[in-house]
Amino acid sequence: LEERLRKSDTLNVVGELAAGIAHEIRNPMTALKGFIQLLEGSVKDDFSMYFNVIKSELNRIESIITEFLVLAKPQAIHFEQNSIVKIMKDTMELLNAQAIFSNVQMELITDGEIPSIYCEPNQMKQVFINILKNAIEVMPGGGKVLTILKMKGPDSLCISIKDEGNGIPEDKLKRLGEPFYTTKDRGTGLGLMVSYKIIEEHRGKVKVESQVGKGTTFYITLPAGTNEV
Ligand code: ADP
Ligand code: MG
Repeated sequence: LEERLRKSDTLNVVGELAAGIAHEIRNPMTALKGFIQLLEGSVKDDFSMYFNVIKSELNRIESIITEFLVLAKPQAIHFEQNSIVKIMKDTMELLNAQAIFSNVQMELITDGEIPSIYCEPNQMKQVFINILKNAIEVMPGGGKVLTILKMKGPDSLCISIKDEGNGIPEDKLKRLGEPFYTTKDRGTGLGLMVSYKIIEEHRGKVKVESQVGKGTTFYITLPAGTNEV
């Protein structure tokens, strides 16, 4: 109950509604994709252009849903002591195929002993998915994403995620996390908004440093003491 309360504290009505809708869209989406695939195999080649449009639009819906996924399961919210190292490794495994496809190498360094953190593991995973996905997407020609986990004092964990993409101009930095702010043709502008909300819920902070033409680093700081959230 306490966890439900904390959640409604930080998520506004619109966010809750969007999350609920996202959840409801997932099942029919799976059916649609399956039947489109069956159909494609059984009709003439003349229609292949239509099928490409249908599939690309379905993928678009799916990426919007993916960015909301965790918020779409409020009943699964469960804060406890968790290993951020493990959550980060799981996330990287999840994104491995996309990284390989883009010729991106993901490296993880743990600097010193990292204690477990009082957090909601699926939400943390969602944050890492969204930030790592952006890092991969910003290097279409390949490159490296370096993630470092390091304690900053006894009760603060610092996670840095650094890419070699084209960077973010100074005047655009403050727009990050704004709902629907995107510079991508097919972006959603939801990933960072969701991530910032989650980090806020964990009493953490996000800072971004970027150099145009060189790359971007996201710094996430989380309280590391027991039951501090
Ligand atoms: P989306 O990825 O769908 O555009 P996000 O909320 O994930 O939405 O990101 C919003 C915007 O922030 C992106 O469109 C991009 O302009 C900028 N951005 C986020 N991460 C990076 C990054 N690592 N390098 C450069 N720009 C970034
Ligand atoms: Mg994104």
